[in-house]
Amino acid sequence: MKVFKFGGASVKDPAAVRNVSRILSLYGGEKLIIVVSAMGKTTNKLEEIVKASQNRDHDMFMELVDDLHAFHSQIMLDLFPEKHIAVYNNVQEIFEKLRERFSEAFPDNYSFEYDQIVSLGELLSSHIVSAFLFEQGHSVGWADARKVIRTNHHYQEGNVDWKKTTDLMNERFTPEFQKVDIQVTQGFIGHTDEGFTTTLGREGSDYTAGIFAFCANAESVTIWKDVTGMLNADPKWFDNTIKLESISFKEAIELSYYGASVIHPKTIKPLQNKGIPLYVRSFIDVHLEGTVIQSSMENDHLVPSFIFKMDQVLFSFRTRDFSFIVEENLSDIFERLANVKAKINLMQNSALNFSILLDRSKVDPNEIVELFKDSYEVRYNEGLELVTIRHYDQATIERVTENKDVLLQQKSRQTARLVMKDRG
Ligand code: ASP
Ligand code: MG
Repeated sequence: MKVFKFGGASVKDPAAVRNVSRILSLYGGEKLIIVVSAMGKTTNKLEEIVKASQNRDHDMFMELVDDLHAFHSQIMLDLFPEKHIAVYNNVQEIFEKLRERFSEAFPDNYSFEYDQIVSLGELLSSHIVSAFLFEQGHSVGWADARKVIRTNHHYQEGNVDWKKTTDLMNERFTPEFQKVDIQVTQGFIGHTDEGFTTTLGREGSDYTAGIFAFCANAESVTIWKDVTGMLNADPKWFDNTIKLESISFKEAIELSYYGASVIHPKTIKPLQNKGIPLYVRSFIDVHLEGTVIQSSMENDHLVPSFIFKMDQVLFSFRTRDFSFIVEENLSDIFERLANVKAKINLMQNSALNFSILLDRSKVDPNEIVELFKDSYEVRYNEGLELVTIRHYDQATIERVTENKDVLLQQKSRQTARLVMKDRG
């Protein structure tokens, strides 16, 4: 049995949904679990709906809901000209319940309400996709992932209970799956012990595919994307990108740690634990091989990868009394940074200085200066970029540093990291 994940872009309109059906036809007779995301930009829309509800803005709320309803209705009208089928009722019911939610007071727990509303995107898309597959003659069922994936109460970022999820998979999912070839379910969502809906974090549908694969012992997972596979750099920042044909789970985790964003980082661990290969393939050109992520590290060094983080700020801290930066200062600095939820992209220390690199979009440099000024002199330098090169050599370093001043660099055996500024 295989798990396929189709993200928002692969089900964004009627043509895309038809394409999913065509892809599945290539796997006639195989057992497939299909994990789908919300259609197109639906999740962002639902987030706006939550905000409107929190602001108690009735007109805005209803307008946004109507828009989203119309978007899904358009897709259905195109896919299902015969209007009698059940999917119209399923969708209608979801939107009615959503509209009714506004009449209740907005709960104190924002994240709880977020999950109850934002999870609807995947329910809508899975109903529409499974109905269409059925109409096309596939042997298909619909499964509610909220009855299978058990999480804790950490709304917006549910932590999976693997034991309970495996039990529920055997108890509730497998018997239904025996009746059909293809079981369609939702990415991104789960449920608590009490049956409340949770979500697994933005872009969490990949992770769902990993959870199903782990609990049901799948032979492989395939993530169908609008790119040809995992590339060795983001084409936005880099010419002549190369597709990675085969990398290890370890390499995939390293790349995502440094900021590569092709797959949700949590996806890898369950697959690595059971040695289940993960394929990243193009839903546009299904004959391309894509990338495989698997246990062997044999090919990791073949292609250097480049990960760029733009708009960085480098802060350097120095004690006011010219004393050395020692462990006590470091723990104090970390604590203050943790309090403002700063995420450190890179750090370095010397006798008198401690430097950290942060995303400019997430911090106000003056606030950081303010926060530390009682004990530290803080300087900062903005407009920087951080490039991480995996499996670097001198030529790759020269390539990225052309016309740049390098402010700081760190090298380990496999990884070079450079903080740079455009040479003005
Ligand atoms: N629909 C959710 C999101 O956009 C989950 C996903 O697409 O993976 O974040
Ligand atoms: Mg999405």
